[in-house]
Amino acid sequence: MFSDQRSKRIVFVSHCILNQNSISDGTADYPGTNASVLKLLMESNVGIIQLPCPELLCLGLDRGDICGGERDVVVENTRIRHQLENERSRETLHRLVDQILFQIQEYIKNGFTIVGLVGINRSPSCGIETTSKNDQEVCGEGVFIEVLKNELARNGIQIDMVGIKALEPNEATLSIQRMLHQS
Ligand code: SF4
Repeated sequence: MFSDQRSKRIVFVSHCILNQNSISDGTADYPGTNASVLKLLMESNVGIIQLPCPELLCLGLDRGDICGGERDVVVENTRIRHQLENERSRETLHRLVDQILFQIQEYIKNGFTIVGLVGINRSPSCGIETTSKNDQEVCGEGVFIEVLKNELARNGIQIDMVGIKALEPNEATLSIQRMLHQS
């Protein structure tokens, strides 16, 4: 079964790596996609799954405040973080994570390799190594990643996760290459 041309290797990426239009006002670094990350993944023959954008789905494209783009990024990110922690957002995050978990379990059950997940550092939602909290960039995970990691752990699944920043392309390439070569 599934012994056709597919690589059976999967990488999950944060939504805005493929679609910068989803990102909060004032923080897009590319017109469309992060092409260097996309190229690297395409060349390594992995299937690419675009994660949902949790902020867009919980708070809308303007993140619930049309003036958000006027604030300092970490200040606005802290406001967004608080909004993601309310009950309504939590419910949405759990619904999103359930769908991701289902896909991961299906691939694992059928002998595929989940090579890893590429998130976005400093994001209050998708940060892996760093996130925004208390108006600063701090070590730790975004709220969405936290929920996802907890659900994965509850189901005995561990996935390699790396965080990147659009304006640090060399570091991003090295982190993703390490992830690709580890599995
Ligand atoms: S980092 Fe996450 S929440 Fe922010 S735009 Fe990208 S996918 Fe959406």
